[in-house]
Amino acid sequence: DPVIVEGVIQTPSTEDLSLLNYNHPHNSPTDTNVKKDVNPFNIKEVFASNPYFAAGGGLMLLGAGFSILRKGVGSFANLMYRRLIVDLEIRNSDKSYDWFLNWMSNYPNRISRQLSVKTSFVQHQNGSVMTGFSFVPGPGNHWFKYKNSWFFVSRERSERIHNSGQPMETVTLKTLYKDRYLLASILDEARQMAMKLNEGKTVLYKSWGQDWRIFGKPRSKRVIDSVILDKGIKEDILTDVKEFLKSGSWYHDRGIPYRRGYLLYGPPGSGKTSFIQALAGEFDYNIAIMNVGEPNLTDDRLAYLMNNIPEHTILLLEDIDAAFNNRSQSTEKGYVSGVTFSGLLNALDGVASAEEVITFMTTNHPERLDPALLRPGRIDMKVLINNASDYQVEQMFLRFYDDKEKLPIFMKKFKDLELPYVSTAQLQGLFVQFKESPELAIENVEILKSPHMNN
Ligand code: ADP
Repeated sequence: DPVIVEGVIQTPSTEDLSLLNYNHPHNSPTDTNVKKDVNPFNIKEVFASNPYFAAGGGLMLLGAGFSILRKGVGSFANLMYRRLIVDLEIRNSDKSYDWFLNWMSNYPNRISRQLSVKTSFVQHQNGSVMTGFSFVPGPGNHWFKYKNSWFFVSRERSERIHNSGQPMETVTLKTLYKDRYLLASILDEARQMAMKLNEGKTVLYKSWGQDWRIFGKPRSKRVIDSVILDKGIKEDILTDVKEFLKSGSWYHDRGIPYRRGYLLYGPPGSGKTSFIQALAGEFDYNIAIMNVGEPNLTDDRLAYLMNNIPEHTILLLEDIDAAFNNRSQSTEKGYVSGVTFSGLLNALDGVASAEEVITFMTTNHPERLDPALLRPGRIDMKVLINNASDYQVEQMFLRFYDDKEKLPIFMKKFKDLELPYVSTAQLQGLFVQFKESPELAIENVEILKSPHMNN
C-alpha cells in the first residue's frame, strides 16, 4: 500500500533565482536629490550636476554593491541548501505522525536530548494488562542514522489548535537530496510496526470533536463462538458480509456506492454489540462507534465523520432510534440537540468512499424507526436479536460448563421458573457468579427472577 503523507517536499523556488539578479531601478541611489532638468537615468549627468553625489556617490554605490553581493551570496547558500536538502513535514493530523514517533522511539541509532514519555498498555496472554513506558522524541531537535544516512528531525508544537481540540504539531525530517528515497522506506517501516502492534486486536474509535479517536487500548479480538445467538443468525450475517466483501467489482462496474447497512434490533443485553465486535474480529476490521443520541452531535458533524471513517473499519451507529426524536437541530435557547432524521438519512446516502463501507446500526426500539431508513443502501439487512431462546440457554450453559449431563437438569429447573423472558446478558450474569460449578448455577437459578438482573 502506498503511504500517503500529508507533507511537502520542498524544491528550489524561482524566488531564489530572482534574488540573484537583483536589479531594481527605484532602489538605486539616483532617486534622491535629482534636479528637474537633469535626466535621472543618466548617471554621468547626475554626478556632474550635483556636488554631493560627486563626493559621496561613489561610496554609496560601493556600499550598495556590497549589500547586493552579500544578499546574493546568502541566497546562493539558501539555494544550494534547498538543492541538497529535502524536508518532509508530517502533521499530527496525519496518521503517519504517531507511527513515525513510535518508530523513532524504538529506533536504536538516534540522538535525542528532548524526550516525551508515552504510557502504553501491554496485554498478556491471560488478558491482564500491564503498563509500559516508552520515550518518544519530544519537541526539539533530534538526529538518527538510517541505512548509513543521517536524518535531522525537529518536532514542533504550535499555539494553534485543531478542530479536534488538540494543539497542532509537526515533525520535519531533513536529509540529503540523494537520500530522499529512504524517507518512504522509513514511513513504510513505521506503518508496518504500527500494524503489527494491533495484530490480532480490534481497535475501537469513538467520535471526538471533529474526528475519530482511538478509544482505550486495542482489545483482543472477541471470538465469534463466544457470542451465542439463535440458530442460524450468526451464519446468515457472516455469509452476507463475506459475500459483500467479495463483490467490490460488481458494485464498481454498476456505479453503485460500495456499501452495505445492517440493522440489529432487539432488547438490551441480547448480544448485539458483542456480536458486532466479534464480527469485526472475524474479518480483521476495527470499529468506529458513534452514538446518534449524543447531544452535541450535529448533522454536519455526523456527515463529516461518516465520510472519514478510518480504513478497514466498521461503522457502528448505536441507538439509532434517537435520531427520530429530534425534529429540529436547535432548541429555542440555542442548544444543539443531536442529529435529525433527515441529517441521518443524508449522511447515510452521502457516504462515499473508494473502500467498502460496512455500517451496523442497533436499536432497542425498532417501532420508532421511520420506514425511509429501511431502504436498500441505507439498511440492506435487518435482523432481530432477541432474548434468549431455549436453544441459546442450552448453548450458553454448555459454553460455560461444558457439562452435557447436567444440562437437562438445569433446563428443567430453568423452565419451571416460567420466566416471560430472560436476556443472554442475565444468563451470563448467573454463570459468571457461579462459575465454580454447574450445580451452584442449578441451585441458584431463581436469581434470574430478581429484578436487578433485568437490565
Ligand atoms: P446489547 O448490545 O444487545 O445490549 P451486549 O452485546 O452489550 O448487548 O451484551 C452485554 C453483555 O452480555 C456482554 O458482556 C456480553 O458478553 C453478554 N451477552 C449478551 N448477549 C450475549 C450473547 N448472545 N452471547 C454471549 N454473550 C452475550
